[in-house]
Amino acid sequence: MVFSASYLFGAFGFIFDFLRNLFPETLNYMPANIAYMAMAALFASALSLHYTKRTQFLPLVTMFVCSILISAYYSYIDDHIFKRTFAVNVFGTFILGYPIVSIWKVKKRKIDQIIYGLTIVTALHFPLRAGAILWIESDRLTVENYANSMTSLTLQFTSSVAGLCIAMALLTMFMTTIVFSLRRTSETDTLTGLLNRRGVEAKLPKFEEALAEGVNSHAVLALDIDHFKQVNDTYGHNSGDEVLIACARLLKKLDIEQSIVSRMGGEEFNLILYNANDETAKLAADYVCGAFSQLTHPVIDDKAVTVSIGVSLWSARSSFSDAARLADIALYRAKSEGRNCVRLAHMQSGPYQVRGKDRRSNQAGMVTLRT
Ligand code: GH3
Ligand code: MG
Ligand code: MG
Repeated sequence: MVFSASYLFGAFGFIFDFLRNLFPETLNYMPANIAYMAMAALFASALSLHYTKRTQFLPLVTMFVCSILISAYYSYIDDHIFKRTFAVNVFGTFILGYPIVSIWKVKKRKIDQIIYGLTIVTALHFPLRAGAILWIESDRLTVENYANSMTSLTLQFTSSVAGLCIAMALLTMFMTTIVFSLRRTSETDTLTGLLNRRGVEAKLPKFEEALAEGVNSHAVLALDIDHFKQVNDTYGHNSGDEVLIACARLLKKLDIEQSIVSRMGGEEFNLILYNANDETAKLAADYVCGAFSQLTHPVIDDKAVTVSIGVSLWSARSSFSDAARLADIALYRAKSEGRNCVRLAHMQSGPYQVRGKDRRSNQAGMVTLRT
């Protein structure tokens, strides 16, 4: 919105410049100068707003007003075209300097860095072009011949090129942002805001690379809320949803470094713990299980919510889906052995095999791994 307003004022600037002869002579270059300066100030605040979500209007408005005053001074008091053009261009640099300073830490993507670079080039080109061109033409430049001068033409041309480059970069940035946001939406569970299955799949390469680079194993935790159907049956589906949201919030709050939390569907969640072994995985799972048993919610009369957890290890010799399957089997054991508890699928470092055709029908401890 502010970007559009900025380009609108830029267009006004060009039109005013073009139609200068139609304005009363007393107005001189003021309409075009005001429009150009408004364009710069709006562009600076739009850039700052976009990247930092806030902007300080006072320094921008001050620079805008000063640039107009100085332009008016060199138009009406000391009518000096060289000084006026140079001053206006220097203020252009100052105004664009504001976002250059305010957003320098938040340019994460390549396209953001391109926009940042273009803004710096544009800011620097203002005084350079004014200095260079006026130095060449200053002896023959007058108020009368300015409109048809090389200086005027070059100033307009370089402004157009800079404006166009930044506009193209902004367009690319907005399109990239839309694509990113669509991708994020497709990888997010709408009810809880956690990653969904697709979101987990998108994160797996990072874990696989770590295994290839020497990390021994990650842990996969399959969580399932106990007797959740009863929650729905007793308190209704909406209350069930509230409980699911509270569970997701709890999992998010755990914030285990480099781990990912997801909702795999229904009342089942999944955690992948980066660089975890049997011991750390069991510790983490016990902690999560304990944290859930403390969780109560008013919509279910402050009753506790418990979960059962199956844990497996994902090493370089296995795949995530193998590990997830083993975690599921361990979860099944946790359910059949009383719920509200943790069970491990013991994985060792060698190639492994799950014995039995129907893995789900294996009894406790029957998930045997061969080294
Ligand atoms: P167990 O302890 O064996 O896991 O028992 P359970 O009742 O939790 O498991 P069961 O598979 O019998 O029931 C799962 C319930 O989860 C049934 C389904 O209606 C409910 N459910 C699945 N997705 C949602 C959802 O998005 N919102 C709500 N409110 N309920 C859901
Ligand atoms: Mg379930
Ligand atoms: Mg359940």
